[in-house]
Amino acid sequence: MGAKTNKDKIKSRISHDGGGNWYDYRWHLKNIIRDLPRAFELLGIRPGQDFLRDSTEVLSKFPLAITPYYLSLIDVSDYMNDPVFKQSFPSYKELDVKHNDMIDPLSEDKDSPVKTIVHRYPDRVLFNVCNYCSMYCRHCTRKRKVGDSDHVLSKKDLLEGVKYIKNTPRVRDVLLSGGDPLMLEDEKIDWLLGEIARIPHVEVIRLGTRMPVVLPFRITDDLLSVFRKYKSLWINSHFNHPKEITGASIMALNKLSEAGIPLGNQSVLLSGVNDCPRIIKNLVQKLVKHRVRPYYLYQCDLAEGLSHFRTPIGKGIEIMESLIGHTSGFSIPTYVVDAPGGAGKIPLTPNYIISWSSDKVILRNYEGIITTYREPARYLNCNMDCDACKLHLNMDDAAEQSNPIGIEKLLSDTDDTISLIPQNTERMKRRK
Ligand SMILES: *Cc1c(COP(=O)(O)O)cnc(C)c1O
Ligand code: SF4
Repeated sequence: MGAKTNKDKIKSRISHDGGGNWYDYRWHLKNIIRDLPRAFELLGIRPGQDFLRDSTEVLSKFPLAITPYYLSLIDVSDYMNDPVFKQSFPSYKELDVKHNDMIDPLSEDKDSPVKTIVHRYPDRVLFNVCNYCSMYCRHCTRKRKVGDSDHVLSKKDLLEGVKYIKNTPRVRDVLLSGGDPLMLEDEKIDWLLGEIARIPHVEVIRLGTRMPVVLPFRITDDLLSVFRKYKSLWINSHFNHPKEITGASIMALNKLSEAGIPLGNQSVLLSGVNDCPRIIKNLVQKLVKHRVRPYYLYQCDLAEGLSHFRTPIGKGIEIMESLIGHTSGFSIPTYVVDAPGGAGKIPLTPNYIISWSSDKVILRNYEGIITTYREPARYLNCNMDCDACKLHLNMDDAAEQSNPIGIEKLLSDTDDTISLIPQNTERMKRRK
């Protein structure tokens, strides 16, 4: 072997005296690379002058940050095609703002009752507890807030979020996100989890972090002893490419699993990074091997500066077609579009229903077999009298289906609504 690895080169270039412990996450945080010439110097590569010139403007819009660890994953011999490079280094294409691009594509600000909370769904909230990260993903959907010094959150902001949850009994699931919540110190994480876990109606806490991918050494024994105190904690990470699943990240995932924390993963479908059925299949299979359940595969959204990362939705459907039936069911994420205007996540899948009659459903499988499912000849529908129901539901425990919304409302027998009609059309205005 003899040849120095990327890691060794980067480490010795950062600390000329050989000081610093590569396995200490604090060393990485102290040495996050924030300027482009420095990043190239550490990698030992010379980019073209136009690359540096074009990037200055891009970086004034969204900063650069990479941990030495994540930087070390880049293949210097072919860096322009490297998925880690593409996720972390700016491209002049980020300046190419398309007509339909939006600053806040998911309308999160409109659904934000207090600064740190997005409350879009009935029983759960997104709680943005920290607006910076150890590494900035060029494809970040919250570019408008993440890495912006104007948006630094105070303890008061966090308390305001906690108070909102306390005062909103319908919230049974709290999703900590950001930025990266694991940028907070252990004591602060402990305090925050404690405050939330104490709220009687909160049943589940989820934490979304990219640390297992970009700084796996952040998963320390101290942090795990904080996590162990909270029994209904789930963690979701953000692996996008099989190459990110390294020995170090596997160790971090193992530690989290061994601390009893269920793990999930959310990926973003990115042109030129992972938009290939073989890459995604390899990714999800590797994740499952290390006890991480693929949760969502996101269609890249309409945030400004992401146009070069977008694929057609058809690419996502093609990828789903290549997974469903072809590999283990629990390796298969749900493919979603987080729809513009605050419509939320909409799941997309290839079609498996070919046709229907009153007594038969014609289906196709992943191999192309077309088959018939005969509907039951007799089926006793429930008569909506839950008290008389024989299905052993503990009525005290289960939420009532009193106010159905959306299609559920049209399907419901307790609500007389027969159509959902958009109100601001010409025709509706004429009617008034
Ligand atoms: C994604 C998201 C959630 C969580 O949605 P799940 O489908 O339950 O994972 C909650 N709130 C907001 C605003 C979200 O974007
Ligand atoms: S880790 Fe998440 S919040 Fe941070 S830059 Fe990446 S996508 Fe954005």
